[in-house]
This record gives sequence, C-alpha cells and structure tokens, in this order.
Amino acid sequence: MAFASVNPATGAVVQTFEAHTDKEVEERLHRAAEAFAAYRWTSFAERGHSMVAAAELLESELPDIARVLTTEMGKTFAAAKGEVAKCALTMRWYAEHAEGLLADEPIETSAAQSYVRYQPLGPVLAVMPWNFPLWQVVRFAAPTLMAGNVGLLKHASNVPQTALLLEDVFRRAGFADGVFSTLLVGSGDVAGLIADDRIVAVTLTGSEAAGRSVAGTAGQYLKKCVLELGGSDPYLVLASAALDRTASTAALARVQNNGQSCIAAKRFVVVEAVADEFNERFGAAMAGLVVGDPMDPATDVGPLVSEAQRAEVAGQVDDARQKGAHVVCGGTVPDGPGWYYPPTVLTGVTPDMRAFEEEIFGPVAVVEVASDLDEAIALANRTSFGLGSSVWTGDPAEVAACVERIEAGMVFVNAMVVSQPEMPFGGIKRSGYGRELSHLGIREFCNAKSVWVA
Ligand code: NAP
Repeated sequence: MAFASVNPATGAVVQTFEAHTDKEVEERLHRAAEAFAAYRWTSFAERGHSMVAAAELLESELPDIARVLTTEMGKTFAAAKGEVAKCALTMRWYAEHAEGLLADEPIETSAAQSYVRYQPLGPVLAVMPWNFPLWQVVRFAAPTLMAGNVGLLKHASNVPQTALLLEDVFRRAGFADGVFSTLLVGSGDVAGLIADDRIVAVTLTGSEAAGRSVAGTAGQYLKKCVLELGGSDPYLVLASAALDRTASTAALARVQNNGQSCIAAKRFVVVEAVADEFNERFGAAMAGLVVGDPMDPATDVGPLVSEAQRAEVAGQVDDARQKGAHVVCGGTVPDGPGWYYPPTVLTGVTPDMRAFEEEIFGPVAVVEVASDLDEAIALANRTSFGLGSSVWTGDPAEVAACVERIEAGMVFVNAMVVSQPEMPFGGIKRSGYGRELSHLGIREFCNAKSVWVA
C-alpha cells in the first residue's frame, strides 16, 4: 500500500510514500512505550524548551511548510501560512501554561490535605483529518506532549507529507525518539492499534462513520476516547444585526478553508425582518469571491481536496436543485483541471433534501428564513450536529436567549466561530464528545488523581 500526496489544483501526484510494514509499526509502538517511561518524569521546563524550539522551527520554515499544506490539500497559501503561525502560537501557549493548567488542585474536605493531581496516561493515538493537516495534529500534540504523554499519529492517507514533516519538526526540536511518531497506516489498521496494550487512549477528528468505528473499538478495549466530528453550524442573523459586517463575515465563515471546515457556518438562519437585505448582501459577497489557484494571493477559494469530495458536494447541490431548491449563485462544476467548485447559495431547502440534514463540506450555504427569534433558535437546533454556532444581534436579551438555548458546544456572538488555544473546543450531539485546547483539552489524557491525606 502506498500513500500519495496529490495536488488538488492540478490533480498531479506530488509524491508517494510506502506504508509502514508491520515490523516498522511494532518498532514505533515499542519506542513510544519506552519513551513514555522516561519522558513522563521530565519537567515542564524541559518539555516547554523543546515545544518552544518546535514553534521556532515552524516560524523559521513557515513559507516552505505552508507550501506543502497548499500543494497537498489545496487551501490557499495565505490560509496555510496562517495555519502554520497558529500552530507555533499554540505550541508557545502550552509551553508557557501547561504547568499552571496541571497544577495540583486543592479541595476543601475534612482531611488534613486533599487535592487533585494531574498525571500523564501514556502513549495516545491520534487519528486525524486532512482539512487542517498541521493544526489538527498540533492542537492534539502540544497539550498532550506538555502533559507528559507521548503521541502516535495516524494521519489522513492523503496528507503523508505533512504527517512526516511534523514528526521531523518534533524530532529536530529535541523531543526524544518515540515521544511523537507518525504511523503511515490505513484506516483499517486503527482498530488493531487501539487494541494494543501500549496505547492508552485515542482521539479522532473526522467523520461520524470514523467516530462510530473508533469509539466502538475504544469502548471494547475500555480506552479513553475523544471525538471531534462533523458539524452543520448555524449562523443566526437577527433583526438588530449590523448587516454589512454580518454579511461579509458570513461569506468568510462559509468559504474558509475552501468550505472544508468543521466549524464553517453552513446554515444561515435569517429573521424575516432583515432577510431580503441580508440575502442580497450575502449573495453578492459569495458571488464576488475569487476562485482559483490557491498559490495566487488574489484567490479567496481554492479547489476542494479531491475529485470524490467535489462530486459529493455537487451531488448534494444537484439533489436540492432537482427537488425544488433555488440556486442563488454558483452550483455548477467548472471545466478544466483541478477540483474547483464555486461559492454557492441555496434557498428553499426542505427536509426531503440531502442539504437539509447532511454536513456540506464545500463552499455551499443554505439560507433559511425564520419569523422571529424563537423560530430562529428552533431552526438552529434542528440538526443532529452540535459543534459551533454564530449569532449576530445588537440586542442583549437576544444574546442571553441564544447563549442559553442554542444546542452546541460553542456560541460566538457577533463573530464567526474560530479556535484558539485559550478556549475549549468541541461539540455535543453527533459532533462528538470531549474537548480540545484550553485547560480542558490538556486534562483529557491525564489521570485526575484524587489525593486524601488524613
Ligand atoms: P474521515 O474520512 O473520517 O477521516 C478522518 C481520519 O479518520 C483519517 O485519518 C481516516 O483515515 C480515518 N478513518 C476513516 N475511517 C475510519 C475508520 N472506519 N476507522 C478508523 N479510522 C478511520 O474524515 P475526513 O473526510 O478526512 O474529514 C472530514 C470530516 O472531519 C468532516 O466531517 C469534518 O466536519 C470533520 N472534522 C471535524 C473537526 C472537529 O474538530 N470537530 C475538525 C475537522 C474536521 P484515512 O484517511 O486513511 O481514511
């Protein structure tokens, strides 16, 4: 089996890599277990020193690394540079804060002393997706390594260059052999890895199907599991929203990462009072986006990751159109090389259409109109997902109602949903469970040990 890195802008194979043999996988598991035995007792200062060195490498090699991201999965070069910079920032944040986040937590009881101590668990397996090929891994690896665990990465099969590049960065930054390793294996090998006694926990970012499979195996072997799955985030536009900024941010929120982000706004729920005005501005903003070569600084939206992914998105739009939805803009697969798809806006989407319930992983927006706040919140919650949500309003009472009643792991008010190291990131319902980033993320793979001294 070989892993190919294919440029979505051209369809050309950039590089191929042979899968690791069983023996190579065994060696990496062995090294991870050996490394953990020593690494767990290293100080936060030592770990932080290597983590900052890793951040420095990302910063000094930023354009080269960003070019790999762009040519391997198609995000714009500008977005790729932003992703690399954010990874460095997150490494620095955890290097600085891990010790404080994992400090003993005193608890008042009748004991002379009682507290919680956070200790590492061991080798953690990360099964990761291609859409933010560096960021998804770093937001797992930075807290996990700073907590004293070691990491094994099974990256998506189409981003082997990024997977190997990151392993190399951690090695050059001074982390001991086995502290962070990449396994070039297929998804069919994941269950066997979870079952291995040396793996203590698993984290997956990816689709629902992968989530079911990984959580099932983790359950069978009683291993801790974190799941970051899909989303169909609502973007609520309420009557007092500042429409200019609301509409321009709406377009950005939908097409970020060429529309392939779990926290992209996907369903735009607009109250009747401002629907015409918002729709006009939003449609114009979407139609005005520049689609093209992701290396070109003028490009807003690059290609989708693969031909299959574009066919999936085109199928969801065609299904809606055939069943009576209105295609306000876009909706047609362009001729020529590269897996491009235009920014598209759909209205009149009904429950019999795939676009109603499925996550659309491409630059396609579904706009729905609500009569008032209550209906807007009901529409926002009418999904099996529960990752992020964005609310636009100038009314504090509406802010309070949305924060309280929207069923999602994250609510952003007058801002699009983003991830950053200080804030917990994760979802509810079929978007998964557990949290990444912040104090919660670093504690996911720790033993919260209760200590009672009478
Ligand atoms: P995917 O097909 O589920 O792949 C994700 C990872 O899981 C890959 O490494 C893949 O390996 C592996 N995998 C797939 N099926 C598996 C199985 N049955 N058992 C074990 N591992 C399996 O997802 P994707 O299409 O690459 O990524 C898009 C999805 O990820 C979207 O739904 C998106 O919303 C979600 N996502 C969520 C978040 C979040 O934070 N919540 C962030 C980003 C993306 P192979 O590549 O070898 O198949």
